[in-house]
Amino acid sequence: MEKTDITIIGAGVVGLAIAYVLSEEGKEVIVVEKHNSFGQETSSRNSEVIHAGLYYPKNSLKANLCIRGKDLLYELCRNNNIGYKRLGKLIVGSEKDEISNVEGIYKNALECGAKNLRLIDRGEIVKLEPNVTSQMALFSPDTGIVDSHGLMKFFYEKAKDKKCEFAFGVEAVGIEKKSSGYRVTVSEPQGELFQFESRVVINSAGLGSDKVAALAGIDVDKYGYKLQYNKGQYFRISNPKEFNITRLVYPPPTKTDLGIHITPDLAGGLRLGPDANYVDKIDYNVAEESKPIFYKSVSKYLSGLNIDDLVSDTSGIRPKTQGPKDEIKDFIISNESDKGLNNFINLIGIESPGLTASLAIAEEVKKIIRTT
Ligand SMILES: Cc1cc2nc3c(=O)[nH]c(=O)nc-3n(C[C@H](O)[C@H](O)[C@H](O)COP(=O)(O)OP(=O)(O)OC[C@H]3O[C@@H](n4cnc5c(N)ncnc54)[C@H](O)[C@@H]3O)c2cc1C
Repeated sequence: MEKTDITIIGAGVVGLAIAYVLSEEGKEVIVVEKHNSFGQETSSRNSEVIHAGLYYPKNSLKANLCIRGKDLLYELCRNNNIGYKRLGKLIVGSEKDEISNVEGIYKNALECGAKNLRLIDRGEIVKLEPNVTSQMALFSPDTGIVDSHGLMKFFYEKAKDKKCEFAFGVEAVGIEKKSSGYRVTVSEPQGELFQFESRVVINSAGLGSDKVAALAGIDVDKYGYKLQYNKGQYFRISNPKEFNITRLVYPPPTKTDLGIHITPDLAGGLRLGPDANYVDKIDYNVAEESKPIFYKSVSKYLSGLNIDDLVSDTSGIRPKTQGPKDEIKDFIISNESDKGLNNFINLIGIESPGLTASLAIAEEVKKIIRTT
């Protein structure tokens, strides 16, 4: 039977970042991905924002890996010609409860170690973004945007140069613990099954990560690994130049999402969204009926918007371990040795800020792989 040292299941931005970091270290790595190319799911269906780590609980993986990942990402983009812009971001508020929400984020962000933040008043907002109508804002100059496809292509090509193997159109369908590692069963493009052995298995399967964990025999309900899908839709402003928005503009967040925000993209467009709704199945349609909700939310802080300016765009699905009634849940990044599965590494619930944190997540995974 063929043998390999490390198998990564999933070639989204996180699996690719891990492949890049481990293959740079000279490790023998194979990546299996069920689609015919990399980045076909959540990693190409997001806001492409480099977050500054403002919202997440102090000492959580989300906070720490976001702040570390942001710095690593800016450096990587700058040194390797990957498209990005450090645009800056405003989280805006006008009503009393919104203002206290924004002030609470400021306090939390400082405690988490986010840098260069300032609360600004109406006078400064007008200078920065003349069409934003809010009374106050938290200004985060270090928030930015990144070309997520360019980033993934960079990871993919660099990993390939270091002899990392990519098996596309290949789905992991079985994982069995053996004395020296795992027997992995995959379904190949024509449906035939193939088996190989791997010392380390890294589950970076995004929306499929709970199913992959279950393949290894983990009770996903018992450990809180079961995913709930939360869909985020986007609309686009058809006449972006009229609004002259140059920074990211966010309303205060809710418990499940960051609110319908305005995101400038690298091509000069303006996207609105995502919204957030729990769904039972993966379906990327954008419902035209959502347009009035988007219009109403964004009109609260942007002047001059007409409902006809909005055209439907894309959508993405958040892989959440947090259900509708739960408190915020952290990323799960775990070497499952305490479950008798040494060097089976789960990455579950890697929702936002997973793109920002991708390189820091890869560093974390490198740390928890055991040599024996
Ligand atoms: C609406 C939305 C907006 C977001 N905005 C931002 C943002 O602005 N900034 C930010 O930092 N983060 C953002 N995120 C989060 C970010 O997109 C994700 O954290 C990140 O893309 C997760 O990457 P991944 O590699 O874990 O998952 P994915 O990109 O989903 O990749 C997982 C891969 O695993 C493969 N796979 C699954 N099962 C199997 C199997 N059995 N065998 C083989 N392959 C398998 C899939 O085909 C897929 O390619 C957003 C997410 C959403 C949904």
